[in-house]
Amino acid sequence: MKPKRVHLLGVPLDCVNMKQSLERVDDMICGQCPQAVIAINPEKIIKAQSDAKLLHWLHQAGLLIPDGIGAVVGVRFLTAEAIERVPGSELMPAICERSVAKGYKLFLFGARPEVNQKAVEVLTRRYPGIRIVGNQHGFVKDSEMPALVERINASEADVLFVALGSPRQELWMEQYLPQLNVKVCQGVGGTFDVIAGNVQRAPLVFRRLHLEWFYRLITNPKRLVRQTALPKFALSVLRQKMLG
Ligand code: UDP
Repeated sequence: MKPKRVHLLGVPLDCVNMKQSLERVDDMICGQCPQAVIAINPEKIIKAQSDAKLLHWLHQAGLLIPDGIGAVVGVRFLTAEAIERVPGSELMPAICERSVAKGYKLFLFGARPEVNQKAVEVLTRRYPGIRIVGNQHGFVKDSEMPALVERINASEADVLFVALGSPRQELWMEQYLPQLNVKVCQGVGGTFDVIAGNVQRAPLVFRRLHLEWFYRLITNPKRLVRQTALPKFALSVLRQKMLG
């Protein structure tokens, strides 16, 4: 069953928890055409305000998870929906775990070569029986993409994880998903780095307080430019609330 889809500043977002997200992934794997799983956070919502192509693509996605706490708070503030966070970095390992029992075949595309390789090793160790049928680091020239598409299709993977960061991975999915035979393609950002142990997730106290974004900011000040979307997002949500 398709989850309820709401709109936050015109950007679609599915009202799902982790369990419902996994059930939706199961449904999409039984479907006919490839479907995208995209994480929605304030940064992407603000980007979509001025990027019609991105907004159009988001509307095509099979599952739009409430990845960022800002998106969750925004939906709760503007609608009556009591949604909760489904971080993409948790959905990916959950799909990997489920894939063992379901027999899903997985392909990992993205991140630096050593990170990609390490992520494959960690997942293979963590989930005995997992079927990772292919992997490719994320620094592939455009001219080499047709060969990669062929390799992904030849692997007969059901699920493709794409870790190129945003918006690169969304643009990649928009361009190449129609040529792929996978059933589900999840954009996972820096998740391979986390799995490989290259980047730590925020300590539990930050996660409990919904301050993971703040931890990432103070440990990587380069993200400051990206986080300027946050005040813009908060103001836009307030404006929408006032306008009713
Ligand atoms: N990356 C890649 N190819 C590129 C640029 C980036 O594979 O051409 C990878 C990079 O190595 C990292 C991920 O994309 O593993 C981006 O992680 P980040 O945390 O910036 O993504 P976010 O989740 O914040 O979008």
